Amino acid sequence: MSFFKDKSVLVLGGSRGIGAAIVRRFASEGAAVRFTFAGSEQAAEQLAAETGSSAVEADSSDRDVVIAQVRDSGPLDVLVVNAGIAIFGDSLEQDPDAIERLFRINIHAPYYAAVEAARKMPQGGRIIIMGSVNGDRMPVPGMASYAVSKSALQGLARGLARDFGPRGITINVVQPGPIDTDANPAEGPMKELMHSFMAIKRHGRPEEVAGMVAWLAGPEAGFVTGAMHTIDGAFGA
Ligand code: NDP
Repeated sequence: MSFFKDKSVLVLGGSRGIGAAIVRRFASEGAAVRFTFAGSEQAAEQLAAETGSSAVEADSSDRDVVIAQVRDSGPLDVLVVNAGIAIFGDSLEQDPDAIERLFRINIHAPYYAAVEAARKMPQGGRIIIMGSVNGDRMPVPGMASYAVSKSALQGLARGLARDFGPRGITINVVQPGPIDTDANPAEGPMKELMHSFMAIKRHGRPEEVAGMVAWLAGPEAGFVTGAMHTIDGAFGA
């Protein structure tokens, strides 16, 4: 029987891409999965029907919505905060409101969701946040706000690991390199540049990231916390 059978899993930002692969992975192992979406209602409904999970509309840019969503999902065995956005362009020209929204989705939501989840999480609970190898290495211009946000998650995990460790709750950051999703298609215009930084010259698959998330949530990872787990074809090496 799967370790995840009937475990309660919440994925914030699960309608597409890496988040959808994580929903599929946990659902296929018998977990009771709930996931949020913001703009992709149709994709969310299809995924929910396909996997037997439940989809809830909840915008991660709103702190109170995030906190309420985690609270209303009841005691969670696993929280995955996957929702994230990127903004490209000259930092001198960017709209501060758009940057502020990025920080709310990419930094504030993971922080408040993790804290809220930990209130009721049982011993052995797992919190996994989707970072990026860009938290360690940003080799191109125009993505400083994204890099800031993904580096911030490293401090988040290190600090909260100390707070939650005495209760056996772990918190980890997964740091993908280029992964083939709508946000970063394998055949997109940046393909050659990105692959030039890598030892394994291809985009990763969302399922490969979901596998790492499942390991971190599983029975072998109880001693792994406050750590960054890079899966990037050596993009950041
Ligand atoms: P996609 O853009 O393909 O999917 C993003 C997902 O997050 C969607 O399900 C989307 O839901 C959800 N989401 C976005 N904004 C919000 C919001 N405000 N509220 C709720 N949900 C939201 O991205 P990826 O799958 O590529 O990326 C997922 C995570 O992985 C992100 O954190 C990203 O930074 C990280 N990452 C991705 C890499 C890549 O190369 N793909 C590399 C490194 C890290 P909806 O459509 O319903 O709004």
